[in-house]
Amino acid sequence: MAKNWVIGFPRIGEQRELKKALESYWAGKSSFEEVEKTAKLLKNRHWQYQKDNEIEFISCNDFSLYDNMLDMSIVIGAIPKRFRYIEDEKELYFSMARGNKSTTAMSMTKWLNTNYHYIVPELSKEDSYKLNIKKIKDEYLEAKEFGIKPKINLVGIVTYIALSKAIDFEDKFQAFDRILPVYEELIKEISKLDEEVVIQFDEPYFAKDVSSKELSLLKLAYDRLSAVSKSIKIAVVTYFEHSVEATKVLVNTDIWAIGLDFVYGEKNIQSIDDIVKSSKVLIAGVIDGRNIWVSDIEKKVAFLNEIANKIDKKSIIVSTSCSLLHVPFTLKYEQKLDIEIKSWIAFAVEKLAELKVTANLFFDGEKALNPQDRELLSANKRAIHFRTISKKIHNEDVKKRVKRVDFIDRELPFEERIKIQKETLSLPVLPTTTIGSFPQTPELRKLRRDFKNKNISKGEYEKGIKEYIDECVAFQEECGLDVLVHGEPERNDMVEYFGEMLEGFAFSQNGWVQSYGSRCVKPPLLFGDVSRPRAMSVDWITYAQSKTKKPMKGMLTGPVTMLNWSFVRDDQSRDITVRQIALAIADEIDDLQKAGIKIVQVDEAAFKEGYPLRKSDIPFYEKWAVESFKISTSVAKSETQIHTHMCYSDFNDIIDTIEAMDADVITIETSRSGNRLLKVFKRVGYKKEIGPGVYDIHSPRIPSVDEIKAQISKLLEVLPREQLWINPDCGLKTRKWDEVKPSLKNMVEAVKSFR
Ligand code: GLN
Ligand code: ZN
Repeated sequence: MAKNWVIGFPRIGEQRELKKALESYWAGKSSFEEVEKTAKLLKNRHWQYQKDNEIEFISCNDFSLYDNMLDMSIVIGAIPKRFRYIEDEKELYFSMARGNKSTTAMSMTKWLNTNYHYIVPELSKEDSYKLNIKKIKDEYLEAKEFGIKPKINLVGIVTYIALSKAIDFEDKFQAFDRILPVYEELIKEISKLDEEVVIQFDEPYFAKDVSSKELSLLKLAYDRLSAVSKSIKIAVVTYFEHSVEATKVLVNTDIWAIGLDFVYGEKNIQSIDDIVKSSKVLIAGVIDGRNIWVSDIEKKVAFLNEIANKIDKKSIIVSTSCSLLHVPFTLKYEQKLDIEIKSWIAFAVEKLAELKVTANLFFDGEKALNPQDRELLSANKRAIHFRTISKKIHNEDVKKRVKRVDFIDRELPFEERIKIQKETLSLPVLPTTTIGSFPQTPELRKLRRDFKNKNISKGEYEKGIKEYIDECVAFQEECGLDVLVHGEPERNDMVEYFGEMLEGFAFSQNGWVQSYGSRCVKPPLLFGDVSRPRAMSVDWITYAQSKTKKPMKGMLTGPVTMLNWSFVRDDQSRDITVRQIALAIADEIDDLQKAGIKIVQVDEAAFKEGYPLRKSDIPFYEKWAVESFKISTSVAKSETQIHTHMCYSDFNDIIDTIEAMDADVITIETSRSGNRLLKVFKRVGYKKEIGPGVYDIHSPRIPSVDEIKAQISKLLEVLPREQLWINPDCGLKTRKWDEVKPSLKNMVEAVKSFR
């Protein structure tokens, strides 16, 4: 009897081996054979982990040297025209991903609502699609050689097209008829590999609100694909939300199984009746594939039993909710993590064990468990129990305070407070500023590292940071900027820095998750009630302020961004957790203003990416996101000016929400999109002040005075000068001083002619 299924496994390597191999190869320091060697080693190791945990449905082709969507583009021959001159396979692949000297890379965007970025396919009328099965075949045979019979993971055709961009088609689905035959051929070729092969088609696009046209294409696709070969068993999986509309369609095709996410798609339970009628196999995603807390195994089994009241156990397979790509590898290397906190966490490898035990318990009952499973189950029960009562997690004062909050409006409306602010700050028209960080030099990183590793004393560290701040302030004075910043030299990361000073956050040493290509992030672990034992930024900011007569901006990370970039506790709803963070930040703002700081910026870089997949969930998200921002900032007195910064420029859908946040000034990224996207501010009659980035900090290029002048002129066509601020479009931490200095000087120079 089939028991368990893993949607996909992370591939970057538990010590980020793939990252290192790729980067060394890209830097010309090693050969491609080295990359292939590492890839083989990792695939085998990852299969071994799954085998050790008695996983029955293990994937191949979940591995990738860069990205699975990109792999799929290669498989069907969707090679954009500008790359077709490249003959060498690996050169073609990495050029599509990263660009090369003469050809710009394909673009990259977030995979649904995760922080994983895929390479966006480009579809054009000029394409002639053609099957390239090499990678799939190689990996299948590799797995067989290793000693397993894997399922083959492929991005489903509708998701592939829906998440691509049309170059010259009016509608990207015009490519559907041309791509479908390639998928059919692919299945035919796969059927030659073995007597019977299981294919997992990922169709997570259907976790969104989809159109009836997309649903009919889904039907058409899987009618056709399931007719190709009797020896192929097709499973279509969705994740991150419910997909009840798609399930209604899929039950009427000849596919073999349907995979549903029951962790993030509670409504999927509504599909059970449809599945029963169709007698399809249900792949029940119950082990959370994108968060890191231990599963409550007994609860999971109880839930599965409920399903089993309707669906025959023989037709159920227990699964992860999505690919484990979105969680770190293993707890094995965590030496510093508090032992109690560690017991509440499961990374990918630990999740395999949870999946195994959950399935065994569900199918065979507790009596049939072997000693090892039994041990794991009782450790699991203990962890679940202590999570509900641990003093590390639960802080009654915080809980009470959150219940009490109601001060969510500023004292005065914007129109009145801005007058007071103008008087206190007395800034020129078109005031200039920056977004916060200045270059993070190797010396600076070394200084922080030395302090962290206790190689230097606190005194030496602080001296180093102060020297940096001194230089930063001196440069900004010399350059003639109006509102200064301290440069953020003490921060490694805008979330980690504050998280480390707050109660309720923990940090792993090795909890890396792939963000794109070789790039990984290490999200904080938000495990408990959040509180602020002491001020976090006041000393640095007041020191910086003491060095200048111009206003110094306090610089904080907003509650929504802290939340969205962390692994968030699952024992309490996010809207409560975010309020706790909001209160901690409110205290910090209050301390800053009491210390004489007149402007505080609360960065919400990740505000937009937290939007839910389903439209019906958006109002609730917007409500708590706006409220938590306001809880943080409403402590500001009328004369304290609140800025916020967001790292994007398309505000069309969320402009009302932005307005509701009620920040006095918002700085945004518009230098690359010109003033087109800015028009929405005019259209809705946005009254507050705006700093649309006037140059792109993501490139090392130094913008000329004329260029910036042109950009400012464009801005003035859309917005009145009284409303405008002049600034770069994001923080400068990734740039070098010799790029930053001339750029900012040119910016200040450019503004002069408009005053
Ligand atoms: N203040 C931060 C900085 O300048 C903002 C970064 C961001 O929004 N990504 O680095
Ligand atoms: Zn930014």
